[in-house]
Amino acid sequence: MKIIMLGAPGAGKGTQADRISKKYDIPHISTGDIFRENLRQGTPLGKQAKEYMDQGLLVPDELTCNLVVDRIAQDDAAEGYILDGFPRTVPQAEALTAALKERGEAVDFAIDVDVPDSFIMERMSGRRSCPKCGAGYHVVFLAPKQENICDQCGSELVQRDDDKPETVSKRLDVYHAQTQPLIEYYTAAGVLKTVDGTRKMDEVFEEIISILD
Ligand code: AMP
Repeated sequence: MKIIMLGAPGAGKGTQADRISKKYDIPHISTGDIFRENLRQGTPLGKQAKEYMDQGLLVPDELTCNLVVDRIAQDDAAEGYILDGFPRTVPQAEALTAALKERGEAVDFAIDVDVPDSFIMERMSGRRSCPKCGAGYHVVFLAPKQENICDQCGSELVQRDDDKPETVSKRLDVYHAQTQPLIEYYTAAGVLKTVDGTRKMDEVFEEIISILD
């Protein structure tokens, strides 16, 4: 099963993608996580990506597409995968379609987690992440067991630079201008499913499962 998660930054795609990945035992591939991991390790890709990420801008397509095309060709992705945060532009979607077509494949579901901008600003201000292992939390919706401490590795949690209010607002502008056209792209491909992302995480998950099953 090849699934794409669409939706604005902060819509909850990552959390849902994680749960879907566990339920169906397929890898969760998040381009944002890949860039952040490269950043932590100080790779050239990480350094290049940081320049864009810190400003709320998209990393250029040529850096992003090859990375994903290589990742989905790996053995663990043979039975399917869930892409979170990719594609984010029409050229990225076209690159993915072309790479899949070469193998006689296509995306099975594009799930749009729909959340209005006003909700997003509020939600993103509560996001926290672990600078060491990358785990994500939310002070209200996904609180760690001990306040501000990572459940996985015990490090102190931080607010990502790109979750600060001025950057969130820029990311939303970028989303509307560059990513929202993908709704039309995947509607035309006959695979778009929209879920209401303003509801509780468990309810959103149930709705997604009913679509996928
Ligand atoms: P995310 O964690 O998915 O919100 O991604 C964080 C940041 O990584 C984004 O604001 C972009 O700067 C960059 N990024 C992640 N995925 C992509 C993508 N598919 N294309 C371009 N930039 C991306």
